[in-house]
Amino acid sequence: MKYFSELLFDGQKWLKDVSFEVDSNGVISSFIDNAKKEGLNLGVVIPGFVNCHSHSFQRAMAAKSEQVQDFSNNDSFWTWRETMYDLVEKLDGASFEKVADFAYMDMLEAGFTSVGEFHYLHKDKNSTLLLGESVLDSASKVGIRIALFPVLYQQGGIDKQLGPKQERFYLSTDEMIQYCKELSLKVKPGNHLGVSIHSLRAVNKENMDKLIDFQKSIDCVIHIHISEQPAEVEQVKTSYGKPPVEYLFENYSVDDKWCLVHATHVNEKEVSLMAESGCTVGICPITEANLGDGIFPLTSYLKQGGSFAIGSDSHVRVDPLEELRLLEYSQRYRDLKRNRIAHEDQKGLVGETLISQTNKGGAKALGLPVGALKEGYYADFIVLNSEVPCIRLKNESSLINEIIFNASPRLIDDVYVSGVKKVSSGRHIKKKAIEDSYVAVIKDLE
Ligand SMILES: [Zn+2]
Repeated sequence: MKYFSELLFDGQKWLKDVSFEVDSNGVISSFIDNAKKEGLNLGVVIPGFVNCHSHSFQRAMAAKSEQVQDFSNNDSFWTWRETMYDLVEKLDGASFEKVADFAYMDMLEAGFTSVGEFHYLHKDKNSTLLLGESVLDSASKVGIRIALFPVLYQQGGIDKQLGPKQERFYLSTDEMIQYCKELSLKVKPGNHLGVSIHSLRAVNKENMDKLIDFQKSIDCVIHIHISEQPAEVEQVKTSYGKPPVEYLFENYSVDDKWCLVHATHVNEKEVSLMAESGCTVGICPITEANLGDGIFPLTSYLKQGGSFAIGSDSHVRVDPLEELRLLEYSQRYRDLKRNRIAHEDQKGLVGETLISQTNKGGAKALGLPVGALKEGYYADFIVLNSEVPCIRLKNESSLINEIIFNASPRLIDDVYVSGVKKVSSGRHIKKKAIEDSYVAVIKDLE
């Protein structure tokens, strides 16, 4: 299929009059700027966003924990987690898949074209059936590109057994390795299968060693929740004598195959260790704000060449533009300064820096050639609404900043994955059916 765009952001910069072809694998096979107008004229195009961290089932509890549980002012991540466990108790395999369908549709409509699913609700209710294949089926049905990260989750805290509400998360390490081998046969071309460790508190060293040996043998991407909450940082310090990132780097060779999610509470030494390693830090600004996690020291990390990606995590709101806006604003709140995430090679433009960095980091975190529009990358892109004034004006020096900071609600028109349209005029092509199923599931849960 052949496409034409009069103005296209390739992930780094704007190009004019771009003609590109997409092969049968959904990959851009030829890409020429200043080309003759031919093929379908899309208008203004930007790359689809990469969502590095998702727990799709949590979509079913979005905004359901915005009510005080404890008037002594002790609502926290840990009280939110109890609400999440209550949801887990209610979901079975069928409802789990319908919620995932809805979450993935939401993502596509918002402009995320690929997702890293950090999947730990392994077992169906009252059965040993594993749900990883449901996640793959859901992504394929809805049409989002997926990197699946089955999660090793074996302890309820360091040296603590899992609680009864966490039992469906458990697999032995041998079971996990076998499970990954089986899933690898089901993963479709264009997707990725990685592995993950829930957190340092949820897996002991012996089992981490074993899973990481397996990860190295198959050379896949590995994700971990690293230091989201001060209480878990204290647990790790007390038990292992070091804060989480220092401990991880002392015991494992962390490289560009690693994505450290929620590296929120880190010291200066840990910031440098991460930046120099080539790993990606997965930041989920909306969820981290919603849960009261804290603010990642991104300005210092970026100065040292660190790589980051964004994730919608709990899906309390799914919107890559809002994630990026909040990411920048949170740094401003903390520093009492403006324009915090801006590289000189992007002419100091905040929007350009945010998009180019997060898409590059996202591609690394998913182990896939995504987040840019050039030869050899997947043709995952967003067509912007040609009726919105900033799109009509096509001012290249301000357009990305307007997209992120001004963010008209009518911005996204069509969304393509592998060169195939999944969202048309802002609506997913299977919207009605997916929404109907989701509403029925939620009614049942209530
Ligand atoms: Zn998470």
